[in-house]
Amino acid sequence: MPATAKASQVHDGAMSATIIEGTAVARESRARTAARVRDFVALHGAAPALATVLVGGDPASEIYVRNKRAAAAGAGFADFHRHLDSAATQAEVEGLLDELAADDRVAGILLQLPLPPGLDRSALIDRVPPGKDVDGLTTLSQGQLARGTAGLRPCTPSGIIELLDVYGVPIEGASAVVVGKSELVGHPAAELLLRRGATVTIAHSRTHDLAAVTSRADIVVAAAGMPGLITAAHIKPGAAVIDVGIHRTPAGLVGDVRFDEVALVAGFLTPVPGGVGPMTIATLLSNTILAADLEAARRGQHL
Ligand code: NAP
Repeated sequence: MPATAKASQVHDGAMSATIIEGTAVARESRARTAARVRDFVALHGAAPALATVLVGGDPASEIYVRNKRAAAAGAGFADFHRHLDSAATQAEVEGLLDELAADDRVAGILLQLPLPPGLDRSALIDRVPPGKDVDGLTTLSQGQLARGTAGLRPCTPSGIIELLDVYGVPIEGASAVVVGKSELVGHPAAELLLRRGATVTIAHSRTHDLAAVTSRADIVVAAAGMPGLITAAHIKPGAAVIDVGIHRTPAGLVGDVRFDEVALVAGFLTPVPGGVGPMTIATLLSNTILAADLEAARRGQHL
């Protein structure tokens, strides 16, 4: 459990879940990254930059990018932000990514998704050089993940693993079910769990009897993007449940998991907000300082 987390549990009858305090774990991760950025500045004389690229005016994306920039600045990174309007062409976005790729001050490039219709998302993601791919989404980074070789890992899935580790949830030998197989979250989360020795099942929209599949699992990662999909009936007593979903409702933010009822069955549970979300940003920052350190070491070898 993180040093600054409150020991918070939900009590009712026999079972009560330990609530995984993602906000506290993320705060500690960001503090470690800030210390590494200070070391980098002391050694190299300038702060590495995180370049955020936003195309179009999607309001949720604007908020996400603003939060990422604020967190990066808080950790001591230089803030290189570029905002193109929704009429930007493929060539214009590619040109901007190439410019940032060639800029030695830029340690990491984050292309905010989703992109406006008409742009080729895969081609743009792959325009980011692997060494600056702090989102871990390029074809090369995904191949490195699949092979288990060194590389930058996707932020949300890495954050999930960190939460499980910090709370001492055993992964090796565990049975894990990931609900959702997206490129961004579900698939890489399953890969990371597999690499750590879990027996992994990936469920998706065509899975028959989801509850029968998830209720056998020691670890359930809910990343379906369906509010309230996972109920108490989906969860084995004592299982660790990681809720990746984020949905804005009139009552506030909710996840894919029905928190109140699952908290009575699960052993560990992430809240929404305050669970996985803060870890995504914390991992983006730790990936950025890792990218900066690796690039500095590479350049040092070539002097
Ligand atoms: P996505 O690309 O829409 O993928 C959703 C996945 O869930 C798909 O694989 C889909 O299956 C599966 N699915 C949909 N309905 C299902 C059902 N009823 N039963 C089982 N599986 C079902 O979404 P995403 O980008 O992975 O995001 C998932 C959620 O996480 C969203 O709510 C998103 O906002 C949130 N998110 C949160 C963070 C964070 O930092 N906390 C980061 C990223 C995303 P098919 O492939 O068969 O269609």
